[in-house]
Amino acid sequence: MNLKPFAADPQKSLGRQFKEAPSKLRNDFQRDRDRIIHSGAFRRLEYKTQVFVNHEGDMFRTRLTHSLEVAQIARGIARTLGLHEDLAEAISLAHDLGHTPFGHAGQTTLNQLMREYGGFEHNLQSLRIVDVLENDYVDFKGLNLTFETREGILKHCSHKNALKLGRIGERFIKKKQPSLEAQLVNFADEIAYNHHDIDDGYRSGLVTFDQLNDLPFFNEISSEVKSESPLINEKQFIKSTIRRMMNIFIMDLCQYSQAQFDKKKFNCIDDVRNAKPIIGLSEDLTKKQQSLKQFLREALYLHPRVQVMTENAHEVINLLFKKLLQNPSLININEHHNQHDLAKFVSDYIAGMTDRFALQTYEKLCQH
Ligand code: MG
Repeated sequence: MNLKPFAADPQKSLGRQFKEAPSKLRNDFQRDRDRIIHSGAFRRLEYKTQVFVNHEGDMFRTRLTHSLEVAQIARGIARTLGLHEDLAEAISLAHDLGHTPFGHAGQTTLNQLMREYGGFEHNLQSLRIVDVLENDYVDFKGLNLTFETREGILKHCSHKNALKLGRIGERFIKKKQPSLEAQLVNFADEIAYNHHDIDDGYRSGLVTFDQLNDLPFFNEISSEVKSESPLINEKQFIKSTIRRMMNIFIMDLCQYSQAQFDKKKFNCIDDVRNAKPIIGLSEDLTKKQQSLKQFLREALYLHPRVQVMTENAHEVINLLFKKLLQNPSLININEHHNQHDLAKFVSDYIAGMTDRFALQTYEKLCQH
């Protein structure tokens, strides 16, 4: 690896909460990645909604395949820019661990239900999973990941929550930046979902070919594809266009970010942390990214069929939360908890559910 001097360095990591002897074979970021892959929360991503509820079809992205695509994009960018690939991969694979069943609809509902107990936020929940909730190790709670992986997982955080988090929350109070690896994963995430949602939207029939052609960036790139391969079939045509669009975003991100590196002349990761955000897209591609998001919101996320899923999610999470809070013995909580701890326990339990387990539990509880 040809690392920049201001890339994250496992040898100079700010460390794990519980001190451990180093591995003989792997650097600390590889070890973090491996712990994430072997965790129960990671396996459950397979059955969690990205946009389409898992049982809608086997051909759509799930949180697991989304996370793998983010990791693939992030590793490519990290390698090109001389940043630490293993760290970018570890953050990518963990970035969505805290998502509830049924995607954003599930999170919004759980957040409303948890309002008087501190709310629910999926970024914070991802950190809670790796810090506290995973329980496969004898010596410590959670996965005991390095500071760098944890700081990358905690992408956003309110000031109020940051005050409770100690060192990992400090950057939100002092308005500092995380590593460049963490910064690039946020872009890899957006590049991944903007493009795979177009693909899934089209293949589901919810987004039509005509709608796609009304999107200027898609139209521009698809015309290029068509003129180069006039006999291409429609499926390959859409795929080739999406592939080329993604490539344009990734190339632009690498060029823009490298130019920033050349300008700033950082010497170490602390220079990165004290500067403004560095990884980014050019003005032109930033606008294109916004237009993709806007398009997807109108054409897909607010589509009546997706809205039906949103309403179902609201109903399921609502009932689960209320029933489990009233009858904690249903989930084997026998010790006496105060109401706040009990609500937190129920919220963790529901957030950890897969779509189908949430539906099965809902059906069971409806009969009670
Ligand atoms: Mg994501």
